[in-house]
Amino acid sequence: MKTETTTLLVIGGGPGGYVAAIRAGQLGIPTVLVEGDRLGGTCLHVGCIPSKALIHAADEFERARRHAGSSPLGIRAPAPELDLPTLLGWKDGIVARLAGGVAALLKKSGVRVQSGRATIVDGKTVDVVDAAGERVRIGCAHLLLATGSRPASLPGLPYGGAVVSSTEALSPPSLPRRLVVVGAGYIGLELGTVYRKLGCEVAIVEALPRVLPAYDAELTRPVASSLRRLGVDLHLGCAVEGWDAGAGVLRVKGGDGAGFDVAADRVLVAVGRRPATSGYGLETLRLAMAGSAVGIDAECRTSMRDVWAIGDLTGEPMLAHRAMAQGEMVAEIIGGARRRFAPAAIPAVCYTDPEVVVAGLSPDDAAARHEGTLTSAQFPLAANGRALTLESADGFVRVVARRSDHRIVGWQAVGRGVAELAAAFGQSLEMGAVLEDVAHTIHAHPTLGEAVQEAALRALGRALHA
Ligand code: FAD
Ligand code: NAD
Repeated sequence: MKTETTTLLVIGGGPGGYVAAIRAGQLGIPTVLVEGDRLGGTCLHVGCIPSKALIHAADEFERARRHAGSSPLGIRAPAPELDLPTLLGWKDGIVARLAGGVAALLKKSGVRVQSGRATIVDGKTVDVVDAAGERVRIGCAHLLLATGSRPASLPGLPYGGAVVSSTEALSPPSLPRRLVVVGAGYIGLELGTVYRKLGCEVAIVEALPRVLPAYDAELTRPVASSLRRLGVDLHLGCAVEGWDAGAGVLRVKGGDGAGFDVAADRVLVAVGRRPATSGYGLETLRLAMAGSAVGIDAECRTSMRDVWAIGDLTGEPMLAHRAMAQGEMVAEIIGGARRRFAPAAIPAVCYTDPEVVVAGLSPDDAAARHEGTLTSAQFPLAANGRALTLESADGFVRVVARRSDHRIVGWQAVGRGVAELAAAFGQSLEMGAVLEDVAHTIHAHPTLGEAVQEAALRALGRALHA
């Protein structure tokens, strides 16, 4: 067995682990990154990037179909056809290009990448078996765990055959005629919409009474309406009983207790993800847990000295930008900086049609935690010129602020193209902006950003365009 030592050993080359390694390398910290699959992790290979590529392609396909019908824009075009292998090749090309970029950045910052699955021996020692079967034992001063998460499964619906997770749904060998999606969260809605726009019949079965139940009802209403307009069958407040592969039906129990079947050729299970805590010796460390996730403090330290954890392994919110921010911070702390992970907000975007963005507190949070001390106001996109020219009048921008000093504590928006407002929302929260800061900023016309300014003006009682 080969042996070596390093200062920082990172297990997992997803957005959390590779960003931590790059920053550590930049700071001159001797760093080894162990990745058992592909650099870039879930996000790059089977998550954020391939899903957004397919969402874009499905939008384009659906737009072309609309033009082939009776487009109000006066565009007349022949009915489009889909070349699935070319589409998947285009998506994989984007992923490959970005993965090459990650490898180049790691190399540039002096990180040694060790391919192979890591097994934890103790808090300072990890064994790696590479593809050739050769074993390497790596000793380290600091161990950073960034092993991510795996799709959750349902007891009556094991993966295999027609029952797939998002990983398989992002690279389908063919499109099913009928897809049933279990779970109306991020993945279920993003990918369910893709399949529907590409021409499949889609039904969604959700346990709770609303789509995107983590968000407030008003924010998700335009998404539910759009799904219905697209022809997606929504079965809300329903329990999945099991999959009858022979009959090709999903057995479901409705909210009233009555059972019914949903016929399908494929079932996408999207009921959340679980931290990847098993299969690589993590349990030998006996770390304090926070539910099913590894417990961490505000510096991402675990309960064992010099063992750190970041990203999906540490639980919700399971978002790539959170993992990256934690990774960058841990590298800096190991490099001697004083840092804490205490963001004013971690914005989240759901790439549904229309898109949903949230950052900071919602009015529901405000009602629960800050009764009477907060105010909120929203501006409809129907009154925004840019939104109308983009055929996206459905939706709004909402601001939540403290009554006392007008300090902004939250933003939400729903509408086509609003994902890009996440930057403005995050900055205003992080910089401690007050309503007047946003209201008095000149926003370019015509842009969706004007709805941000108008929401702040409305909260001050002086909206101009509504
Ligand atoms: P991961 O990206 O999961 O990386 C963990 C890495 O560790 C993997 O490469 C794995 O191979 C490696 N590993 C695990 N165990 C070992 C071991 N023992 N030895 C060696 N290597 C190991 N988030 C967003 O912010 N925006 C989005 O739009 C978005 N879209 C998504 C769409 C889908 C379909 C999915 C599934 C997820 C999406 N996410 C999105 C979530 C995002 O992918 C995750 O939050 C993010 O990847 C977490 O990063 P991580 O570094 O913690 O873990
Ligand atoms: P999710 O938590 O977003 O949604 C899961 C949904 O499944 C929920 O609505 C839940 O009520 C429902 N559900 C749970 N058990 C069920 C059952 N037995 N029957 C029917 N419905 C059931 O999880 P996800 O969509 O699997 O995504 C996993 C994670 O990946 C997300 O939490 C998010 O952190 C990340 N992600 C982010 C993005 C993005 O940022 N745009 C996109 C995709 C995924």
